[in-house]
Amino acid sequence: MLIGLCGGICAGKHAIAEYLIQVQGFQLLELASKRHHRIADEPDDDLRLQASQIRKRSDAQSADLVFEDADTLLEFATKRWQERWVTTDIADGNTLDRFLLRPFFLLVSVDAPVSLRWKRFADRCRRRQLDPPDLEKFVIWNDRHLYARDIGRVYLTDRAQVRLFNSSSSLQELHHALQALELADEQRLRPNWDQYFMQLASLAAQRSNCMKRRVGCVLVRERRVISTGYNGTPRHLTNCNEGGCPRCNRGDGGGVGLSTCLCIHAEENALLEAGRERIREGAILYCDTCPCLTCTVKLAQVGISEVVYSQSYNMDRDSAAILEAAGVRLRQFSPPSNGLIYLQDTGEKTIN
Ligand SMILES: [Zn+2]
Ligand SMILES: [Zn+2]
Ligand SMILES: [Zn+2]
Repeated sequence: MLIGLCGGICAGKHAIAEYLIQVQGFQLLELASKRHHRIADEPDDDLRLQASQIRKRSDAQSADLVFEDADTLLEFATKRWQERWVTTDIADGNTLDRFLLRPFFLLVSVDAPVSLRWKRFADRCRRRQLDPPDLEKFVIWNDRHLYARDIGRVYLTDRAQVRLFNSSSSLQELHHALQALELADEQRLRPNWDQYFMQLASLAAQRSNCMKRRVGCVLVRERRVISTGYNGTPRHLTNCNEGGCPRCNRGDGGGVGLSTCLCIHAEENALLEAGRERIREGAILYCDTCPCLTCTVKLAQVGISEVVYSQSYNMDRDSAAILEAAGVRLRQFSPPSNGLIYLQDTGEKTIN
């Protein structure tokens, strides 16, 4: 695999690259142009010193790992994708587009509080006997580096598949957090079947027009999608969110006045769409919310074999009892969030 690291000044991308190299058998791929910048002490790196130490340790070998341009670098990694490579030298959105086409590439962004990044930067200046900038000057550099039109790093960080928040106060703390995270897990490159179908269910939910709650689901057999569904009013009726269902628009609590609701549930829509004939043994329903009671009995009746849900609903226990009695497997699967991951000693923490 190839991990590309991007992020703000002193956010820690080089520290993370260093960890991957020292602990997880990664090798650094570099651009020659970037290497010059480094010597000129561009204010966007953390661990140039350590990187250059590595270079000294194995200069003969690393000479092969410095490339004239990003395409040559990518071609090199493509032929050797089963080995572990890391680069911090992706500089612009067009280059990134080409990297993101490859299934072995993972873009990881690293961010940290600006006050902490300033402190790290000032410490580094002092180590090199340079005058550290004051906070205001650093903030101006930082704004330019991140947000300059067309060339700001935010174009890169915005597209990261994994987003890390490096608030760790020491390298040791960072290493502990990275150990717990398993950044190099191949599963990050490609969703497994559960993740894939659950993401499709979440996508379907975005089409929902019901005022009460967005719900989406996907009906699958032999890993093929039979149908999808989301909740809302029936065809030709005014959408729920345009006033189509008076009950939903009254905003009563969950479950109140259900019998007067005009909205069809996501699961019902998926079943209607699939038709009885196509739902045979082995059909699995992926839904982002655990089915309600009235959907549950229908799922049992048409012969669904398994229900996989992501989020709980207030009738979970009753639904579970019915499905069990009907011989339908029920399983909760919540896909890993692509929210921000806090890198702190306590390990992986996610905010949505
Ligand atoms: Zn509704
Ligand atoms: Zn309704
Ligand atoms: Zn339902």
